[in-house]
Amino acid sequence: AKVLVTGANGYLAAWVVQKYLEAGYSVRGTVRNATKSAFLNSMFAKYGGRFELYVVDDITKDGAFDEAVEGVEVVAHVASPFHFGPSDPDEFIIPAVQGTLSILDSVSKNGSSVKRVVLTSSIVSIWEDWNDSKTRVFDESNWNDLAVESVKKQGMAAGPFVVYQASKTLAERAAWDYVAAYKGKLSWDLVAINPAYIFGPSLTPAPTIDDINTSQRQVYDTLIGKKSSAELQWWGSWCHVALTAEAHVRATYTGRAGGERIIIRSGHFFFQDIWGVVNAASELGVPNVARGEPDAIKDLPKLSLFKSTKAEDLLGLKQISELKDMVEESVKDFTARGYPG
Ligand code: NDP
Repeated sequence: AKVLVTGANGYLAAWVVQKYLEAGYSVRGTVRNATKSAFLNSMFAKYGGRFELYVVDDITKDGAFDEAVEGVEVVAHVASPFHFGPSDPDEFIIPAVQGTLSILDSVSKNGSSVKRVVLTSSIVSIWEDWNDSKTRVFDESNWNDLAVESVKKQGMAAGPFVVYQASKTLAERAAWDYVAAYKGKLSWDLVAINPAYIFGPSLTPAPTIDDINTSQRQVYDTLIGKKSSAELQWWGSWCHVALTAEAHVRATYTGRAGGERIIIRSGHFFFQDIWGVVNAASELGVPNVARGEPDAIKDLPKLSLFKSTKAEDLLGLKQISELKDMVEESVKDFTARGYPG
């Protein structure tokens, strides 16, 4: 079967393409810039012509994917902006929402062979940064309405991370609303993959440190000591990039995943824990890592916890990496690339 993967040159998407190819699928990968993305052709040449690069220069245009969806059985929509530097909420919200709606429209119009759409959403469409100091437990029934409201009220002043959260929440909602509006009339169904913070080595060239994606940059900045004490005590959930990519493939062929949102996470972490790993593993050779304040995290007033077994129950996905392994892989990846620090 053939899969259309959007934003194929991105950090996660390159892994998603590789996992589909390994599983025997053919892949048409859309990118905005063919020159920048030419590395994909050589990287995937070993799959004997099963990878094809396809340019869609503006995903927000009506009909942007009309030709790209022809003849594919599966669409994995991964492309969406993720960084901490937007100057206006629309910089995120328009490509996230319109990009999603335009691909769904193209599928409905021209993708008569499409049976399933896998949407890369995020755990930030589920988790919200609530205001009181009680620990909260989240699952796939939750929605991050708080981010959407904050951005509606405050615009960019809500902060870039909240704007990103709103863009992902609105895009995933738009997709489910679309499916509900055309109920009974679509030849395809939808699965949303909701990954936590994605960490682990990259397949993309990223020649300088400024070329790596936002989540890997978090790991790098932690390692080189760029995070404040408060940031080191930031808690969250993370997932390994290979596990996340594998989730997309399994969500493609697992019939009963249709109609589900599925949280993907490898575990809970504090950025401080990354320091803990490198301090305990001197053979990694990371210089000048401070000890930080490992005890401070024990006194934190609230935690966000997740109760989710769908990844395992529906997709048969088990944790494939400990934080320690991921940090070690990341350090080796950054070192091999010659990044400073
Ligand atoms: P990257 O920045 O590495 O990749 C983003 C991809 O989306 C690139 O192909 C990029 O194309 C494309 N893209 C960005 N903005 C636009 C736009 N305005 N129009 C068209 N294409 C665009 O990010 P990740 O790999 O980290 O993220 C991939 C997906 O995973 C996103 O949907 C993100 O929300 C989601 N996600 C990421 C997490 C993480 O921790 N990294 C966690 C949970 C979900 P170009 O190179 O041309 O800019």
